[in-house]
Amino acid sequence: CFIVLEGGEGVGKTTQWRRLADALIAAGHEVVALREPGGTPAGDALRAVLLDPSSALTPETETLLFAASRAQLVRDVITPALDRGAVVLVDRFLLSTYAYQGRGRALSLAALRQVNAFATGGLAPDLTLLLSLPLDESMARMHARGSADRMEREDDAFHRRVRAAFDDALDPGWQAQHPEIGPVVAIDADGDADVVTTRCLAALATKWPH
Ligand code: C5P
Ligand code: MG
Repeated sequence: CFIVLEGGEGVGKTTQWRRLADALIAAGHEVVALREPGGTPAGDALRAVLLDPSSALTPETETLLFAASRAQLVRDVITPALDRGAVVLVDRFLLSTYAYQGRGRALSLAALRQVNAFATGGLAPDLTLLLSLPLDESMARMHARGSADRMEREDDAFHRRVRAAFDDALDPGWQAQHPEIGPVVAIDADGDADVVTTRCLAALATKWPH
């Protein structure tokens, strides 16, 4: 089962990713927990370039490097893990590309689709949990973290566009037109981490009875 956690900056994705991995391991599953970009030696090297504010990447270069990291991760790690029956839990996947490079950087969705179909070989998540917080709150959390990567240094308008793209992905009509994304469910990310984890597990149990 291929599960993705998505959302903008400061919504608590990485915290929930760790907690969900622990819960699924405790339930007896083999869990392969990964984050994008990264997860392979090449992917981790690409991650460093992608996040470094001094890289000054064009949007096109940025897109290709994210796609390269994804291509390596799908073939080296995700597909083998799925083949042996593991649960694969990834912090970000293709939907982040549509949100950040598509809406954030205003690149054409058609181009992103083509590049990423090549990168993933058509592999789509079984379920995406989209963590949602009011934008003011997630931005405050992001700023409170201190150090900011290249994307996090973008202005509020950029992060508003990213947020709007994620919200669009909750529409059943949008999902029907984007089978490469798979089903997306919203998770209210407001509240204590354990409350949010309970919501994530409840959503998982509905869509994927395990
Ligand atoms: O820890 P986090 O997932 O936020 O780090 C990944 C960084 O890469 C984020 O700043 C996110 O904005 C960015 N990203 C992106 N496009 C993607 C995936 C991630 O800009 N497709
Ligand atoms: Mg971030």
